[in-house]
Amino acid sequence: MYKAVFLDKDGTLVKDVPYNVAIEKIKFYPDIFRPLQQLCQAGYKLIVISNQSGISKGYFIESELIRAFDFLTTYLGGHAIPIIDYYYCPHAEGLKEPECTCRKPQPGLLMQAAQEHAIDLSNSWMIGDIMADVAAGNAAGCKTILLDRDQHYRTEVESTIYAHRPDYVCGDFFDVWSTIINDKN
Ligand SMILES: [Mg+2]
Ligand SMILES: [Zn+2]
Repeated sequence: MYKAVFLDKDGTLVKDVPYNVAIEKIKFYPDIFRPLQQLCQAGYKLIVISNQSGISKGYFIESELIRAFDFLTTYLGGHAIPIIDYYYCPHAEGLKEPECTCRKPQPGLLMQAAQEHAIDLSNSWMIGDIMADVAAGNAAGCKTILLDRDQHYRTEVESTIYAHRPDYVCGDFFDVWSTIINDKN
């Protein structure tokens, strides 16, 4: 069994441009590179877990999304950061479709990834910038980090409005790295 760091894409690895699949608009956060290299060296598989309702809404087609993922793989691979797979939910929330089991906060994508890559979920982490990421990670049995770059959630997480809590709240990716490396649980 392997251990993994599951990564949300938008707002976590790259700046959140809603429904974007255009390569030229993909902007990586500069703090991700060293920490992700170190996590790979520490034996974590890196897998992207992404909600992509733009497919269901007709904003882009699957092949355009795959092209964007391929760009991520190539770019990060060039920085010694292998992304071993991508899992995405193409469905939209709302009334038009029956509720799927893969759109975060559901854990379906994580469960599928774990099965296909022999991942031990209890020794793995879900990193994301919103509480839906945290809820998905918790439901899958992962440890969870809310990456709260703009300190939007920091106070809210401590209140009772969310049913799910992250194990940790981090302000940047260096904080994510040191949290995972130093975690003793
Ligand atoms: Mg996000
Ligand atoms: Zn889905």
